[in-house]
Amino acid sequence: MAEINVLSDIVINKISAGEVVERPASVVKELIENSIDAGADKISIEVEEAGRKLILVEDNGKGIAKEDLPLALTRYATSKIKDESDLNSIATLGFRGEALAAICAVSKVKVESRRSNSPFGFAIEAEGGKEGEIYPVGAKEGTRVSVRELFYNTPARSKFLKSDPVELSHIISLVESYCITKPQISFSLKSNGSTVIEVSPAQSGRERFFDLFPEFNQTDFREVKNSLSSLSIEGIAGESSKNFSSFRYIFTSVNGRFVKDKLINSAILKSYEETIPKGRYPIVFLSLSLPCDEVDVNVHPTKKEIKFRQQNLVYDFIQKSVFKAFHPSQPVFFPSMDKEKSAEQFFKEKTFGSVKESPSLFKTDFEATTPISSKVPPPSSHKVLAVWRKGFIILDSPGGISIADQHTLHERIRFEEFRHFIESKGEKKQFLETRCYAVPRNLRSRIDELSQILNEQGFEAEAVSENAIGVRSYPAFLEEREIDPLLEEFISEGGEILKTPKELHKSVLVMRSCRGAVMLGDELSIEKAQYLIDKLFSLNAPLTCPHGRPIIYTIREDEILSRFHRR
Ligand code: ADP
Ligand code: MG
Repeated sequence: MAEINVLSDIVINKISAGEVVERPASVVKELIENSIDAGADKISIEVEEAGRKLILVEDNGKGIAKEDLPLALTRYATSKIKDESDLNSIATLGFRGEALAAICAVSKVKVESRRSNSPFGFAIEAEGGKEGEIYPVGAKEGTRVSVRELFYNTPARSKFLKSDPVELSHIISLVESYCITKPQISFSLKSNGSTVIEVSPAQSGRERFFDLFPEFNQTDFREVKNSLSSLSIEGIAGESSKNFSSFRYIFTSVNGRFVKDKLINSAILKSYEETIPKGRYPIVFLSLSLPCDEVDVNVHPTKKEIKFRQQNLVYDFIQKSVFKAFHPSQPVFFPSMDKEKSAEQFFKEKTFGSVKESPSLFKTDFEATTPISSKVPPPSSHKVLAVWRKGFIILDSPGGISIADQHTLHERIRFEEFRHFIESKGEKKQFLETRCYAVPRNLRSRIDELSQILNEQGFEAEAVSENAIGVRSYPAFLEEREIDPLLEEFISEGGEILKTPKELHKSVLVMRSCRGAVMLGDELSIEKAQYLIDKLFSLNAPLTCPHGRPIIYTIREDEILSRFHRR
């Protein structure tokens, strides 16, 4: 008996849908791209239940002709390319002709569209990939696509979706990206009836960026603008003091296509390598233009990843353009267009891992971070002999001579103090007036959870409006001037924090507080060094920093004696 069957189109569609339609945000992406390709300058998006129940995208683009409607929903049917040769010069966002078909296969879709030369519009509906008849409707010029009950027929897929706030935050980030990439288009996004994003046409990506994120200050940004033969780049780059634990604020586009590309991101990080620590990311918006045949957009089903023909050149160009924005008077040299390294070798050299921490550039003022605690610790049996090269404390220890790393040492002390504070519900200090911290759009639905985490960690905090958390008091051992950066960062990264398991929330602020620690390269007097050493030993804490780096290395007495043949 034969076992092999030819799969029906519906099944094939579902398989491919697995690539293109991963979550509600992927549907929103495809529909927005179609609207952009149709020349719309106004795109309205509405979602209900984070897109599970409804995703509706309406545009004022050129519309779809009546006879094309069934084809629009058919797989591999597109108006954007005709034959293979067109693949080398794709100027539209879509071109595979499979998005609508893939969406139809896993939801209930209705497309209504009216072209400018038609007195009324036409609609077509499809359910689980089966198309109905075309019928006339009264419609505005343009296209309106509604997608209901996403994944209703593929329950396994719907199980993989995250909670509504998480799925909604993906949609918001995505719409934000298109807002920035296409400043001339007005966008609106509504979720369950309330407006989340509303922006009118802007002159530039920069203007749009600040319309969208009024919480940022224009003076904290540099303009990036550069060109090299047929390559050009434009955008803004944030000062390195504004950095985050995720890529959330890195927006990039290539020839008007919003992308999340490894090579571009690593070039950006490279230009910040000396000023932003590993694992932290700047705020950057860059739009890159180059000839269509220099970039292949046909390498990934969701088209987010792309491939440059001359990777080295593009990498260097981006990196140096950003660098130049911060060092306008320093000359930068660009590579010639020849000799391409293999992609593998290239990524080996340029991976994010190669971003090194450069301690001297992250100095904090030690004066400002002392006193570490008001209580004087009991003297320890370790006596400070010297501070070596602004980073290491040399000690006369009971077991021999020890060398302590001043930064990891101070990190451990701060960590222990914070932990002790949380466990013992220590003393708090009141602000004279409640301080308010703006909550980014994608986290507003979780404002109470964020306030709760702060309360668990020794702050007195609550939502004071739908987009701000008010803080009345803070742990007394922190300096008042440390609070703003600590909380601004905590809130802006709330999305990442909320994703982590609950038990880990505890350590979030604790770890952050480590950053106030004295750095390698900071001048430390013998007295202060002794204070730190005594403090450390009074805590009975492990002799590693909270991230696991060692604090002390001891050369044992017997080893010293035997080296000198005294034993
Ligand atoms: P692709 O965008 O890759 O061509 P899609 O499945 O997304 O494939 O869309 C199929 C076709 O439907 C498009 O090529 C286009 O002709 C038409 N279409 C889809 N959405 C719109 C829209 N909003 N406005 C005008 N035409 C559209
Ligand atoms: Mg498309």
